[in-house]
Amino acid sequence: MKFGGTSVGDVERIRRVARIVAHEHREGRAVAVVVSAMAGETDRLVKLAREAGGEHSNRPGVGGKGFDDEYDVVVASGEQVTTGLLALALRQMGHPARSWQNWQIPIRSDDAHAKARIDTIDEAKLGAAIDSGEIAVIPGFQAITGEARITTLGRGGSDTSAVAVAAALGAERCDIYTDVDGVYTTDPRMAHKARRLEKIAYEEMLEMASLGAKVLQTRSVELAMAQRVKVRVLSSFVEPGQPNKGTIVCDEEEIVEKQVVSGVAYSRDEAKVTLLGVEDHPGVAADIFGRLADAHINVDMIVQSESRHKGRQNIVFTCPDRDAPRAAETIEAARAKIGVEDIHIRRDVAKVSVIGIGMRSQVGVARTMFAALAQKGINIEAIATSEIKISVLIDAQYTELAVRALHTAYGLDAV
Ligand code: ASP
Ligand code: MG
Repeated sequence: MKFGGTSVGDVERIRRVARIVAHEHREGRAVAVVVSAMAGETDRLVKLAREAGGEHSNRPGVGGKGFDDEYDVVVASGEQVTTGLLALALRQMGHPARSWQNWQIPIRSDDAHAKARIDTIDEAKLGAAIDSGEIAVIPGFQAITGEARITTLGRGGSDTSAVAVAAALGAERCDIYTDVDGVYTTDPRMAHKARRLEKIAYEEMLEMASLGAKVLQTRSVELAMAQRVKVRVLSSFVEPGQPNKGTIVCDEEEIVEKQVVSGVAYSRDEAKVTLLGVEDHPGVAADIFGRLADAHINVDMIVQSESRHKGRQNIVFTCPDRDAPRAAETIEAARAKIGVEDIHIRRDVAKVSVIGIGMRSQVGVARTMFAALAQKGINIEAIATSEIKISVLIDAQYTELAVRALHTAYGLDAV
């Protein structure tokens, strides 16, 4: 069981979490619990670390040690507090519970501080304690290196911790309790006809998570898919015993009724960069995107087209909005060398995507999308597709309209 920051936001809520955990335990299940820091706590710690001069970065630091290891010491502390509080609340209710800090298990990671990856979890001692009837409470978001230095797994990393612990213990399921009651067909704030999905395939969830649905950290879904851990997303605000089915994230084989489209996702954090009159010969794209990669700019959609001028082409790409000025500067600086006539940036764009494993075996999915957008008079500026996803770039002011139109067009509206 994993509980996120809002679910453990204050002691009252931690008591409710204790009641939910106790209920599972009373039903005869062996339970390990992974907790986040109390809501807002990690942000507060990040700010403190920054004030002290240790903003996470790859600066060399004194003696070549950098800063990120100490940043991790600071920001990992939030979860430790929650483990103790939850264990206390459980004991108060008469349940055997104890907190397990990472070095006590241990959970080991590489030494990429602030974005570490879990390598191994030694389940021997932990498993024995759980088998003896104890409830284990484990801090999410962190691990230790081979040298026993504290690492953190990147923001939202407690989801990944929970999946990793579930995999190590061979758990039947990983229940992720959060402030929403499941995964929805789209953001309910955008379309009030959004529906909770009963089940969603790993691949679909992965696309949804990387396209901006914030329910699960993307890496946790990757891990669940690789280790075949069944994940359930459900509400922590429902008292135990009350209906709370949530959404099961599982293998597509387990989904009987495959939807052509299961969800509509959107992201407003997009910018479009247009390079006009780019010289057209082998190596140009490699040069441009090599420079962008060196500048750590994460490029998403790419469209290349012929120009009216012979020997020239136009290239359009998208990147996160905050990176757009840097992307333009990077190209500008090498403009003569690459051979680019003109550079434009548009920052008021949004990406809207439809996702579904059923798409693989269905024709006309793109047509439905484009027709629905055309009917609303929404112009498409770029298109990208994968086997189970179609994304379009549009004017940001039509985001909501587009999401709703697509939700209706693919028959996702709640009746
Ligand atoms: N507390 C960490 C964060 O806010 C990890 C997590 O909650 O998943 O990013
Ligand atoms: Mg989270």
